[in-house]
This record gives sequence, structure tokens and C-alpha cells, in this order.
Amino acid sequence: MSSKKTGFVWHEIYMWHNTGNYAGVMPYGNPVQPGTHVENPETKRRFRNLLEVSGLLKQLQPITAREATEEEILRFHTRDYLEKIKALSANGGGDAGFYTPMGDGSYEIARLSAGGLLAALEAIMSGAVSNAYALVRPPGHHALANEGMGFCLFGNAVIAGKHALESYGLERIATVDWDVHHGNGTQSGFYNDPRALTISIHQDCCFPPNSGHLHENGEGEGEGFNINIPLPAGSGVGAYEAAFDRVVIPALKAYRPQLIIVPSGLDAGAYDPLGRMQMHSGGYRSLTKKLKNVADEVCDGRILMCHEGGYDEDALPFMGLAILEELSGIRTSVEDPFLEMMAGLGGQQLQPHQEEVITAAQQLVNKLG
Ligand code: ZN
Repeated sequence: MSSKKTGFVWHEIYMWHNTGNYAGVMPYGNPVQPGTHVENPETKRRFRNLLEVSGLLKQLQPITAREATEEEILRFHTRDYLEKIKALSANGGGDAGFYTPMGDGSYEIARLSAGGLLAALEAIMSGAVSNAYALVRPPGHHALANEGMGFCLFGNAVIAGKHALESYGLERIATVDWDVHHGNGTQSGFYNDPRALTISIHQDCCFPPNSGHLHENGEGEGEGFNINIPLPAGSGVGAYEAAFDRVVIPALKAYRPQLIIVPSGLDAGAYDPLGRMQMHSGGYRSLTKKLKNVADEVCDGRILMCHEGGYDEDALPFMGLAILEELSGIRTSVEDPFLEMMAGLGGQQLQPHQEEVITAAQQLVNKLG
């Protein structure tokens, strides 16, 4: 275990980003009864609460978020889009794009969300912490340069990655997105850029529509530096571990990034309402361990995780705790009460039709040399 701590970003104002009275992901209105938007504060609050109750929170290094500057946001987003978000935010909110409701004041909160990652990155690069988890909101990995998408306003991971490349002069960074949905926004932010290896492991054809295929492999100078692993619905821990062992980890070893950013959606959890995968806290613990080992080998342990999706209020906090325990090297006395039932679900082992996808993705690693 490193003597340096794991950094943690949190701010109550993240929870005040208001997604409104939706019915799950749908706008309300006859015949859809108003309800709660699925991307509401509860899972995030409960995740942080379990960190506190477990005793781990006080052993993490708090990192104070700052607002990302306009210049930092404009490294990825268009001026028109930034101005649109600013105007919507000042006028009671609205829809930032495709399934992306926002409320009054969401512009400032989204700037603090992206800036939470920037502050965490700065703490990692200065050596103040060895790695960090930014439990921010709104999320970012679907946002495009000129359009909000899938609950995401600004591309947090892209903005952080560009900060690493342009402010710190890093030559190679990698992103490993394990949200159940395709990290299309992060992919788009670096699609032509060989300085970033972007990897997304997700449920095949879940969200966005028609996105995240194997053949999306980067273009121009970025050709070969985007890897998608679209696992079939129903994939369990066995498939995720195999995808890491055979694709993600070898790709990182071949590319040797100087920083690894992990858009960390926990909606691949077995009971998540927006995904059909079978991950559990033990699975996330295992994947985090694998990432940490490779990060120790290639980039002095520098891992920046940023929170993305995850909508299972009850079990999600235990997945988050497992990740933070592995990142920090501190095991609390808390046992996950959901683990036994989730681990016993049929199909947790790698299945042949899942292995086909992993084998195909392995071919893409060979191109990295
Ligand atoms: Zn997601």
C-alpha cells in the first residue's frame, strides 16, 4: 500500500442539479404520470454516506473542487453549446440535448463537476495523492462537443484528459470506461488523437442508439486508438474479468499511458434498472485491482476515476465502497449484503457468445504493437 492517500471529490451542490419530474428517463405528460428522474441525487448520496458510515471517508484525502474555466470547457465544447447551457441555466432550465434535462443553476454545477476532476487531476499530478475518485454530478461521458446527451452536460473526462495533455504536457493518456452504456462522448473527444487511448466496455446496443461498435476504432492520426468492447446483455463478472485480462490490461501495457482516467458508471450492476448486466461489488473490486496493478507498472499508479451512471440505490453504494477500498488499499469491516445473491446469479461465468466479442476486441490490441 502506498503511503500517499486516495483523493476524494464531493460537494453537496452536485446534488442540487435538478433533473425534474420525469418518469424514469421519460418526460411526463398524459399518459405518462410525473415521477422521479432516474438520474437523481439518491445513489450518489447513498454512496457517499456508506463511505462515511464505513469509516473509509475520513481516511481519504478531501479534494476541494473548483469551477472549470470557460477556456478549459472550450477545449472540448463549442462556444455555441456553452452559451446555450449558460442561457438555459439562467432561465429556469430545459433540455440540453438528447435526454438531458437540466434545471436552474445547472451550468455552474456542471462547471464545478468538470472542475472536480480538474482539481483531482492537479492533486494527482502534484503528488499530493496517488489516485482519486471524483463523485461528481452531473455526469459527463455521453456529452458531445455541441450537444448534451444521456444526462451529461459537459464531457468531464474529456476536459480532464485535455487538461492533462495540454496543461501538464503528458504525451499519452488512457480512458477506461466501465459504465454499462457506451462512453461515446469521451470517444468523440479523442477520436482523431493518438495521445489518448480510449477504451469502453459496455452492454452492446444499450445507449446511445447504434453506438459503441467494435469497428469504431479511431480515425486519422487516432486510427487504432479507440477500442470498444460491446459485451452482450447478460454478461457477468466472468466476462468483465476476461475482457480486462485479454483486452484492457494488454492494451494499457502496450500503450503505456502516463495517466488512466476511469469514467466509472456503476450501472453494470446486476440490479440496475438501466442495464442488463450482472456485475457486483466483488467484480468491481477485481477490476479495480487489475487497473491498479497495471497503473503501478506503467504510470506510477496515477488513476483518476470520475463518477458516471448507476441507478440502483440499494446495492450501488457497496460497489462504490469496494472500488474505494481497492484504490486506497484500506479494507473496512463492512461486508456487502447483496454480494452472495448477485454472485449466485446464473451466467456469471464467461459464456461462449461473450468470448467471441472479447476475441474480436483482442485483435484491436494487436494493432497497438
Ligand atoms: Zn450509464
